[in-house]
Amino acid sequence: MSPVIFIGHGTPMNAIEDNEFTREWKKIAATIPKPDAILSVSAHWVTKGTKVLTSDEPETIHDFYGFPKSLYDIEYKAKGSPKFSDKTINLLGNAAVGDTEWGLDHGTWSVLHIMYPNADIPVYQLSIDRYASPQELFEIGKKLRPLREENILIMGSGNIVHNLGMVDFSIEGGYEWAYDFDNYIKEKIEKRDFESILNYKSLGYIAKNSIPTTEHFNPLLYVLGATNEYDKAEIYNNSCMAGSLSMTSYVFS
Ligand code: ZN
Repeated sequence: MSPVIFIGHGTPMNAIEDNEFTREWKKIAATIPKPDAILSVSAHWVTKGTKVLTSDEPETIHDFYGFPKSLYDIEYKAKGSPKFSDKTINLLGNAAVGDTEWGLDHGTWSVLHIMYPNADIPVYQLSIDRYASPQELFEIGKKLRPLREENILIMGSGNIVHNLGMVDFSIEGGYEWAYDFDNYIKEKIEKRDFESILNYKSLGYIAKNSIPTTEHFNPLLYVLGATNEYDKAEIYNNSCMAGSLSMTSYVFS
């Protein structure tokens, strides 16, 4: 059965950098079995309702501004997987709709360009439903579980702490509340106490500062839903940076 992973993706620059984070991403790719397809839930595709990318040749979307040209030059040429896209829509009880307008956004390709540079594994995406509650996102993740038996790698790509308004690249680690939130999530994941994660709002200002908007956090909820009670979590890139970003990543297998 395929593992399920959550990757803290940070800045798009990681796609072209060799650094402590990207080296760990490479390590993950080298450690887990090679999947037949990858389903990415990226922080950068948020829609009304749930959409599934069904294109057989998804385009590379450069959805960021003010970065070096070398980043815009990257084309991640993975094929799509209409077969598994359809299967995913079926698993979601047709509550999701197919989409050919979107492509692979940088939440997906900035990570996969490092993990699987040959782009030889089909990739498709699932959008984040803007109006769903944490519980509902978790339930969608549960419905995705059978994909793991087909050797599909479900990947959430976001950041557990993500507050761009407070990012300060002169800071090496994180603010105290950033560590508090990141550690809270870690501790609950290790205990498989997902109820407490879904109720993160009870943490008050720690949660409010860490995820003033939830799009980077929400991919984790799909990922947790797709795990089962036999999965063990392995932690990679256990760290905060620039004050208000966490790069902490998880492999569940
Ligand atoms: Zn992002």
